[in-house]
Amino acid sequence: MNALQIEHVNVPTQLFIDGRFVDSLSGEKFAVVNPASGEQIGEVPLADEKDVDCAVQAARRVVDGGRWAAWNPYERERLIHRVADLIEAHADTLALLETCDTGKPLRDAKAVDIPLTIQCFRYYAGWPSKIKGETVPVRGQFLTYTLREPVGVVAQIIPWNFPLYMAAIKVAPALATGNAVVLKPAEETPLSALYLARLMKEAGIPDGVFNVVTGDGEKTGAALVRHPGVDKISFTGSTAVGQQIMAQAASGIKRVSLELGGKSPHIVFADADLSAAVKGIVGGIFYNQGEVCLAGSRVFVQRPVYNKVLEEVRGAARKVKIGNPLDESTTFGPLISAEHQSRVHRYVKMGVEEGAQLIEGGSAPANLESGYFYEPTILVGDHLGYTVAREEIFGPVAFVMPFDTPEEVVGLANDTRYGLAAGLWTRDLSLAHRTARALKAGTVWINAYNLLDAAAPFGGYRMSGFGRELGEEALDLYTELKTVWTSLR
Ligand code: NAD
Repeated sequence: MNALQIEHVNVPTQLFIDGRFVDSLSGEKFAVVNPASGEQIGEVPLADEKDVDCAVQAARRVVDGGRWAAWNPYERERLIHRVADLIEAHADTLALLETCDTGKPLRDAKAVDIPLTIQCFRYYAGWPSKIKGETVPVRGQFLTYTLREPVGVVAQIIPWNFPLYMAAIKVAPALATGNAVVLKPAEETPLSALYLARLMKEAGIPDGVFNVVTGDGEKTGAALVRHPGVDKISFTGSTAVGQQIMAQAASGIKRVSLELGGKSPHIVFADADLSAAVKGIVGGIFYNQGEVCLAGSRVFVQRPVYNKVLEEVRGAARKVKIGNPLDESTTFGPLISAEHQSRVHRYVKMGVEEGAQLIEGGSAPANLESGYFYEPTILVGDHLGYTVAREEIFGPVAFVMPFDTPEEVVGLANDTRYGLAAGLWTRDLSLAHRTARALKAGTVWINAYNLLDAAAPFGGYRMSGFGRELGEEALDLYTELKTVWTSLR
């Protein structure tokens, strides 16, 4: 896509504050680049401390004025459904924007990102009329009950791999629970959040309830985290930035929830349906070019089927169709940036230097002249000492190793500082559930991988973060619980 096509779909390229699209006060901007071509496709404002302050103040006015939270819950439901309707009506445009901004295959943006986004808004649209407290059977003559109240002004900071869906996961429950939001999309992918702002306006979401500030982490993100008017920070991104945010939030005791990195294990037992397992492994690590927090990047295969599974995964990796993500037959697009492409390659080289065996991929495809493409890559080894087996690469790089017993593989799977997800394949029901219990991960898939649903809670153990997004559990992230005691004497 070029700038003209962006103009054609008329994407807003200003900050969205208090219901209006505005330039940044400094006038500073940054480039938006299409990773499939390396070409600049637009420019958006680089919001600084002053712009962030305007956005937070707008959200603050909504919260302090008791607007939105005090609305008739059925009216809030109607408006959030209306947002979902508009996303549905603009699905093709939004899919196109996601593809031009991230490089993800258009077919995936259409089949996954946009439908999951719509599902998420619809699911949370149902909640405002159902959020309730409880009466508590305390000792003595009291009526004691709880109320769920919005946290207030919520700063939401998201990464670039599923820009619109990440926004939906955060924004929909925050609005359903009556908060006001300042959203900061990743600097690599600001377009769909700005387009969403337009749809919010069109849906009738009141001014100041939803605000978008575009910019980088250092200037815009940090200003948002520091701002004393922010009550809660919801962050999805790298563990390193999550740690900084948690430290910065400490002085104001701001509420924090963190969805961070992963190095998820994907286990194949010898009795599994191997063709289904191979599909699961390939999708688990190569879907979205491996730029998935849930990526099954450590693959453990039981020894009797190890060679067969490895060969089939290798064959499937070769069949991936790499190329222009706008071509609907493409299944594998470019990585997000030249910098990320070099980072992924550095990891692969390091793996080889440390003694892992490179059996597939390991470079940029020779036939593609522009764009930040990188081949589906497989490294094998017999221990977890390699950097590629320990650190999150966030690219299409699988580390595969054999194992012998269920006890051994649980030890290997849990030998990581992360704990976001895990997958396992077997026909043995008790082995499946015993292993699922033993794995230290927020989500475990049995004979499946990479599934999310608005109704199913999702989040990390250990250094993959805390707090559960999606499902009813996300309502806890965006509400404070108040206990009211009334004397009956
Ligand atoms: P990142 O941490 O570099 O950036 C994420 C967001 O934080 C961006 O919007 C960025 O501008 C902002 N940011 C950066 N520094 C900041 C600071 N000091 N203060 C405030 N904001 C700051 O991550 P990324 O490279 O965009 O995304 C990749 C990472 O995200 C991977 O580690 C991946 O696993 C993780 N991720 C996790 C989940 C999950 O749900 N657990 C989902 C997707 C991605």
